[in-house]
Amino acid sequence: MIKKGFISRTPTRIVRKGIMARKPFKRDLSVEKRKSRKRVKRGKKTALWASYGLTVPKYIRYSGRKGIYWYLFSKMIRKRDYQEHEGLCMTCQKYVEKGSDQCGHLFPARDCGFNLLFHPQNNHLQHSKCNNPRFTPSAGIHNAINIEKRYGIGTIDKLAAIKLIKGKEWSQDQYDIYIKELSPTMNTDV
Ligand SMILES: [Zn+2]
Repeated sequence: MIKKGFISRTPTRIVRKGIMARKPFKRDLSVEKRKSRKRVKRGKKTALWASYGLTVPKYIRYSGRKGIYWYLFSKMIRKRDYQEHEGLCMTCQKYVEKGSDQCGHLFPARDCGFNLLFHPQNNHLQHSKCNNPRFTPSAGIHNAINIEKRYGIGTIDKLAAIKLIKGKEWSQDQYDIYIKELSPTMNTDV
């Protein structure tokens, strides 16, 4: 007679080890192979950025053309706020020194949907600290107040309504078109 619970008591760790022993988990990939794959990937990235006359920056938010578009869009937003709004941070309304300037979202990027991701009224110049919830957890409230001051009462309502409309992300071809539209004006430092 098999004791109750006998099967469930079989240590799963050992079972998995057994499977692993029979089917090695990609252990054949040598360090050199992995390094060369990385180099190819990096080469492709450099080539893609170069095809738009750009060098790969230190930090890239998104991969592929989306990353290039965000890089240019973020520059455009910061340039707009330096030129038209005296370089004031949307959160604290103080001047943003070059080097700590970032383009930040009111409705956070990870949750705002595609229609707001690159919306000019959802993106503004901010201090890097004001754009970081760890340092400025209440930034959203201040942003909302200041955005309404800038564009008028009802702006947040309008943006919230846009958020509810499900937006379809651009195709690679569309990204290409929009990158080419933005890049001639944004190819200089902010
Ligand atoms: Zn600030």
